[in-house]
Order: sequence, then C-alpha cells, then structure tokens
Amino acid sequence: MAVNCIFCKIIKGDIPSMKLFESEKTLAFLDINPLSYGHALIIPKHHGAKLTDIPAEHLTELLPVASRIASALGSENYNILQNNGRLAHQEVDHVHFHLIPKPNEQEGLG
Ligand code: 5GP
Ligand code: ZN
Repeated sequence: MAVNCIFCKIIKGDIPSMKLFESEKTLAFLDINPLSYGHALIIPKHHGAKLTDIPAEHLTELLPVASRIASALGSENYNILQNNGRLAHQEVDHVHFHLIPKPNEQEGLG
C-alpha cells in the first residue's frame, strides 16, 4: 500500500468504486472516465508504479480476469492497454490494465 496512491485507496475502500471482480491479489473496477461502455481497470493489489515493479506472482491473474470480464460483457471486440511512464500516457502510478470494449456496429446504429 502507498499512502497517496488513489488505487491503493480504492483497494482499501477509502475511495468508492464500481467493483467487477476481487480476489486476494487482484481488483477490477469500472473506470471513472470511461472511453466506452464497460471500460474497466484491472489492478494488482500489490502497489507498484510500473510493470517492472510488480513481482510476477501478482501479475498472473490480471489478463485472465480482463478476458473473463470481456466475455461477461459479451464483448467480442476490445483493447487491453497498459501504460508505463508519463511519456506513455500513464497518469496513475499504480499498475493497471485497461479493458476497453468496442461496441458492436449494430449497437452503434441502434
Ligand atoms: P492511465 O492514463 O494512468 O493509464 O489511466 C488511469 C485511468 O484511471 C484513467 O482512465 C482514469 O479515468 C482512471 N481513474 C483515475 N482516477 C480514478 C478513480 O478515482 N476511480 C476510477 N474508477 N478510475 C479512476
Ligand atoms: Zn497503489
């Protein structure tokens, strides 16, 4: 845990979030500023700013959880992104994977 980390505060429950999945090592919740319906963030509970700061055993669940959420949303088209460092557009210094579903074309026309 890092005292001033917004995602550590979400893990602790000090900041509310819309949780999608939680286990001993992993938390997934909806992004507060979604790029599309269902935009989720999947994070290790272990604090670290960049991927290289997180021990491997805290990373193993993240992608399986992301793909399970994509399936649960019925999303066939989606991006998974993970930014490291300011020049790579990282704003929150706690490792996170973005799951960004792409709406089906039919939905867009609806
Ligand atoms: P980054 O640019 O660091 O890869 O993305 C950080 C993401 O965290 C952004 O998409 C932003 O909307 C999201 N975010 C920042 N603060 C909060 C918050 O307090 N709650 C939630 N749910 N998402 C947040
Ligand atoms: Zn943190």
